[in-house]
Amino acid sequence: MSVRTIGIIGAGTTGSGIAQVAATAGVAVILADISEAALDKGLTTVMSNLDRLVANGTLSAKDKDAALGRISGSVSYDGLRPAGLLIEAVPESFALKAAILRQLDPLISPNAIVATNTSSLSITRLAAELSRPERFIGMHFFTPVPAVALVEIVRGLQTSDRTHEAVETFAEQLGKTPITVRNSPGFVVNRIFLPMLNEAFFVLAEDGADPNSIDSAMALGCNLPKGPLALADLIGLDVLLSVMQGIHEETGDSKYRPAPLLKELVAAGYFGRKSGRGVYRY
Ligand code: NAD
Repeated sequence: MSVRTIGIIGAGTTGSGIAQVAATAGVAVILADISEAALDKGLTTVMSNLDRLVANGTLSAKDKDAALGRISGSVSYDGLRPAGLLIEAVPESFALKAAILRQLDPLISPNAIVATNTSSLSITRLAAELSRPERFIGMHFFTPVPAVALVEIVRGLQTSDRTHEAVETFAEQLGKTPITVRNSPGFVVNRIFLPMLNEAFFVLAEDGADPNSIDSAMALGCNLPKGPLALADLIGLDVLLSVMQGIHEETGDSKYRPAPLLKELVAAGYFGRKSGRGVYRY
């Protein structure tokens, strides 16, 4: 099954990245968010990313215009009706995601597939919110979406083989590498990687610790493109905190407890790059 039109719910860090990648791959995108301001922010991100690709010669100006022409915005879920695949990318809250799925359920085509970009929540539990849970699946993209090849594909107990095959094909259509992982808290990548970022906040809270030294040490010592604190700012400290909390609650294992300093920064509204301040100022 080749998907021609997708709907993305949430035009934030990941939603805008998925929109960019899909539109560049020739797919029509309906991007939905709660306000015109949120939509504008997402579309501006896509435009400036595409401008950068044109400037460095990776994309022609004609292809950029064609990609932008494939993206339309909507502040109502009604506008998502034509989509054959819907990808939910709203903040990491079970209650919020479940409420959106219940709202979408009567609106979308009976054949449409619904995917969630959740980083940690159970696909089986979310699927149970839909009248056709066999059409629901996890498609977990990574930040920055245009640059990272992996998409974790996560089946719920109810997910059909047809749904699984369709999203694998779609991920490949976007030039991504799909890997199917088990429906367990944090799946594979976040379960292993995010505790390392969380640990960096424990180290940062120690007397005299300096974020640049921690980041440089980890980037050089582990051959990472960025240190853990800079990566946390890129992902969003609010996102990191909610995913750590989710894994901690689901597993009951204290090794996933969020660092107190991470909680403090989020409480202050320092969410990272997207809010202009996180561990660093932007
Ligand atoms: P974000 O905070 O950058 O963006 C969320 C967007 O959702 C915002 O534009 C917001 O206005 C919108 N939104 C909120 N409520 C909405 C509603 N009711 N209807 C429509 N839109 C609504 O979030 P993000 O970082 O893109 O994360 C979204 C999801 O993707 C989360 O589940 C997160 O765990 C997951 N994820 C995030 C990353 C990351 O690195 N940030 C990576 C992979 C997966």
